[in-house]
Amino acid sequence: MYAGAGKTEFTFELLVSRWAELAWHPTRGDRPTLVARQLGTQQRRWDTVVVEVDPAAFERRRALGDRGLDRDLLRVVERAPAEWEWYRDALPDPGFSWEYVRAAIHRAAGRELVETRHGTGGRVEFRRVQPYPDWVRRLIAVENKPSLDAAAADALVDQIEHDVSAGLLDEVWVATDADDADRALLETFPVEAGVLACDFGDGVTADAAAVHWHAGRLEPDETITSADREESPEAHPSYRAELAERAYDAGWRSYHETMRPDCRAFELRRAGRGLVPYCTAKACHQTASECAGSCGEFTPEPPQWRTSGWPVAGGPGKGFTRLLDRRRERHRERLEDV
Ligand code: SF4
Repeated sequence: MYAGAGKTEFTFELLVSRWAELAWHPTRGDRPTLVARQLGTQQRRWDTVVVEVDPAAFERRRALGDRGLDRDLLRVVERAPAEWEWYRDALPDPGFSWEYVRAAIHRAAGRELVETRHGTGGRVEFRRVQPYPDWVRRLIAVENKPSLDAAAADALVDQIEHDVSAGLLDEVWVATDADDADRALLETFPVEAGVLACDFGDGVTADAAAVHWHAGRLEPDETITSADREESPEAHPSYRAELAERAYDAGWRSYHETMRPDCRAFELRRAGRGLVPYCTAKACHQTASECAGSCGEFTPEPPQWRTSGWPVAGGPGKGFTRLLDRRRERHRERLEDV
């Protein structure tokens, strides 16, 4: 019997993220998705971000490598010409020094995203390896609040209003415990925000979340960029592309990078079709912030665990990390086969 993991916001968020990976969309039928956590803009960070993808275009995106493209690489790769061209002719004036653009082109070439050569007069020319695919269909944010008491709901209203009006998202949802879902309907959330009633008593299952209020379709603006004032918006990648690339890069399982899977008390425990961190020292599902080097009960794995191949090479901490990375990879592969 699985119980209790959905009570902290952090663990609830992992469960919602896994559920979204498994069962999205809650009303519009199966949609291939990438799911990420804790992504956003300077103004707003979303708990769970769902990227609905075009499978064929996603396959072409995968051909560009496993790592995401940051803003500087996107600027270059999205607009890389089919034929050799001096980079200053091929790209719009960035509004800042061209040196940074040139450095990004060389970085892109180092990742085999573009090709470079020296043309007439030693000018750096480049061309694309393949067109950057239009792989993102829709972007959705889910705000996770397992306990939606009156104070939490009030605090959320402004944030949800911002999400609905920001022009970046196609849909906005609030996910909450099934027992609190009615309260969400009493709040003054914008009517476009959907409400998901979640019951993770048996861990993650396809029907662990049900629609309590339908989300309305928003009208995102593809032209919004994160350009600073001194940058040229024409030379900037779209915010949505940036967010999608960050989602591609991080996924939702990268929490092991900031937690301490190398602590002997760290475990991953099954929660239905998901896995969530568990701390044997504290006998609970620990949060990401308490599972840090500053934790008073942190105990490093004994060195012999790492050297004796127990039970996998590198010790359990490395094993957990590999397991989470493998699951992310497996999910990406499945998306190509949809
Ligand atoms: S003892 Fe502290 S560092 Fe170790 S797993 Fe538990 S919360 Fe994490």
